[in-house]
Amino acid sequence: MVWRNAFLAVSGNERLRSFVSSSRVTRGVIDRFVAGESAVDAVRAAGELAERGIYSSVDLLGEDTAHPAQAEEITRGYLRLLERLDDAGLSGWAEVSVKATAVGLALGAEGEALAAENVGRICAAAGDVGTTVTVDMEAPDTVDATLRIATSLRDRFPWLGCVLQSYLYRTDADTAALALPKARIRLCKGAYAPDPVTGFTARRDVDASYVRSLRLLMASEAYPMVATHDPRLIDIAGTLARRYGKAPGDFEYQMLYGVRPDEQRRLADEGHKVRVYIPYGDNWYGYLARRLAERPANLMFAARSAVSR
Ligand code: FAD
Repeated sequence: MVWRNAFLAVSGNERLRSFVSSSRVTRGVIDRFVAGESAVDAVRAAGELAERGIYSSVDLLGEDTAHPAQAEEITRGYLRLLERLDDAGLSGWAEVSVKATAVGLALGAEGEALAAENVGRICAAAGDVGTTVTVDMEAPDTVDATLRIATSLRDRFPWLGCVLQSYLYRTDADTAALALPKARIRLCKGAYAPDPVTGFTARRDVDASYVRSLRLLMASEAYPMVATHDPRLIDIAGTLARRYGKAPGDFEYQMLYGVRPDEQRRLADEGHKVRVYIPYGDNWYGYLARRLAERPANLMFAARSAVSR
């Protein structure tokens, strides 16, 4: 918990960001978890996964957008990315993941409307090339607005996915409300700073909450997207899917780029649908800090590989 809080606390520090990007050791961590800085890198990563029968969700890194021009730039980046994925013949394999704060949510009173409009533009472009979008979930104070945006766009884009985080107390109720037929729902533990007012801070409570929501989703007619690397939860997902008659293809497993690639392969080889979340772009710092907060061992892993290069 000490490590987790320390990494999350420095996730916005610019000086640390430039140190991290120039150090050989930490460069190894970036390269492991981020596909690259350009859309070409992301499309290449999605293509390599598709060749192995693995789907992807591509995230143009960006969050806490502070100016409307930045929100516009990121939105256009997504529109270009979708074109590139289509040109590469990958729109059947790759969707996109979008953060509401990246496309304007944090921009004051008009932010929610702007973010909804921009997510809508991205959805329209995704629909044109035959793929889907998932709206990522961010810090607890953005959850209501993010769910409102996703729900408001569902009429036009019924395939628009949303995310539930099991570390929040509210997630039992949100799961019950959102588990509608065909609703694409990614269930994860939650990657932001734990807060005893809004959510569980003990790992066992977060896991128990995950299992409760997973059971509800598997028993429903929704399309669960089981986003975890946790071997125990992956096993439980398989058991619940069998119990409630969900065949492979009625739900999917999701993991992060660079995390447990052997397990991704194993599940795909067993006939499951597996999707890997591929982040790319030069705004990788907050994303990386969350990965290190979850598992400081990631830094040790990269340090060892840098030393042995
Ligand atoms: P943890 O509790 O971190 O780990 C449990 C166990 O999994 C570990 O004990 C270990 O056995 C295994 N494990 C974990 N990491 C590794 C590793 N690197 N190598 C080997 N074994 C490992 N969070 C959000 O808040 N919003 C989002 O929109 C969001 N989207 C996500 C999308 C995807 C596809 C995924 C996979 C995660 C997403 N997350 C998101 C992050 C998520 O909330 C967790 O922070 C993250 O997945 C870590 O939790 P975990 O379930 O893997 O379990």
